[in-house]
Amino acid sequence: MSEHRILVVEDNKAVAKLISSRITSELDFITKVAHSYEDAQAILNENDSFFIAILDLNLPDAPDGEIVDLVLSKEIPSIVLTGTLDDELRKRILSKNVVDYIVKEGMHAIDYVIHLIKRLRNNRNIKALVVDDTATFRLLISRMLELHKFNVITANDGIDALEKIKQHSDIKLILTDYEMPNMNGFELVSELRKDFSKDMMAIIGLSANTSETLSAQFLKKGANDFLSKPFLNEEFYCRVTQNVEIIELIHEIREASIRDYLTGLYNRRYLYEIGNNLHSNAMRDNLAIAVGMVDIDFFKKINDAYGHDVGDQALKHVAGLLTEHVRKTDVVSRCGGEEFCVILTNVDRQRALLVFGKIRKMIEKSEIQADGKMIKMTISVGVCTSIKKSLESMIKAADELLYEAKESGRNRVVIDI
Ligand code: GH3
Ligand code: MG
Ligand code: MG
Ligand code: MG
Repeated sequence: MSEHRILVVEDNKAVAKLISSRITSELDFITKVAHSYEDAQAILNENDSFFIAILDLNLPDAPDGEIVDLVLSKEIPSIVLTGTLDDELRKRILSKNVVDYIVKEGMHAIDYVIHLIKRLRNNRNIKALVVDDTATFRLLISRMLELHKFNVITANDGIDALEKIKQHSDIKLILTDYEMPNMNGFELVSELRKDFSKDMMAIIGLSANTSETLSAQFLKKGANDFLSKPFLNEEFYCRVTQNVEIIELIHEIREASIRDYLTGLYNRRYLYEIGNNLHSNAMRDNLAIAVGMVDIDFFKKINDAYGHDVGDQALKHVAGLLTEHVRKTDVVSRCGGEEFCVILTNVDRQRALLVFGKIRKMIEKSEIQADGKMIKMTISVGVCTSIKKSLESMIKAADELLYEAKESGRNRVVIDI
């Protein structure tokens, strides 16, 4: 499949080998390596579907960048590696619509290539919306974003843009013109900011309007950034990348602050944050929720007999099974060492008993493998289904029922009422 293959054309065998091995070890791609124009031609004749190509401009049988035209004629996006860079060459290369060019200066150049490929790989999962009333400009920006592998959607004006966002609520990046009929760029930004914060959706304003205050106004309305038309392609890509990376970074930081590092489940802090909301909704709208406290039986023995790593593996195993057996809207968290708290939404007592009963059975039947041995485990569960005045008191009640489950023999579910 093209999405997994990268073509590396580089006559210096050591450099080619280094690039290729870093790509295969650090990224989920396979490489095809060519040491000459002729090699590259043979590879492409056999199969020309590649995610991207990394091209040396100077090859023994093609010293003047001829490889770029060959590869681009197959519609393969290309990253150019070059030993020298004068202004003339830079312009000539960039006019060919390559993804980027990199001057070969030590290890740092290869780090940059790896970083760029990762960026392009992530861009495949990012939806970008281009809003402009001029068709040629829409097309130009879309092509530029597509070259960097973004998933591109277009709109003719602000109203159309809002409609597109309704259909694709996961749009992360918007490039919008200012002057447009029906709804202009400012109005669009103001509308969007009612529902999407700056750290969820990056909006970049674009305009050929020469008014000096336009960029400041775009930013004040809530745009993340601004570019005046015409712009250099390189500046366009730098700004797009920078804005997308800020959003990703904020997302990562947020994820790290709400999740347990070992299991990837929500942590105790976030359990209370999201759980209090669920509890308030349940109180207000008279909805049913159930809080289950889940604890692994004699977990200490697993640690003692097989070591802490196997204990960790058991925790991940239980976390995985819990997640698999509840709905997406339910909350699964790790709230202490080997204790988990699960909040089921829209469930009555009978259904809660069914869900936790099934999880208990699944864990009893399953096993994990460590040092060639199969290890089994069981869990005890306490479930509170009567809506109390706070989430806290429901958790406390579930905890007491869990204690009963332990006292009465473990490997069982004890539910209230
Ligand atoms: P019970 O059936 O009564 O729940 O017995 P138990 O042994 O499961 O319970 P206890 O509370 O005595 O022991 C819990 C153990 O969990 C003790 C602690 O060392 C271990 N533990 C806590 N956090 C972690 C962790 O992150 N990884 C591993 N491997 N062990 C952990
Ligand atoms: Mg316009
Ligand atoms: Mg335990
Ligand atoms: Mg415990």
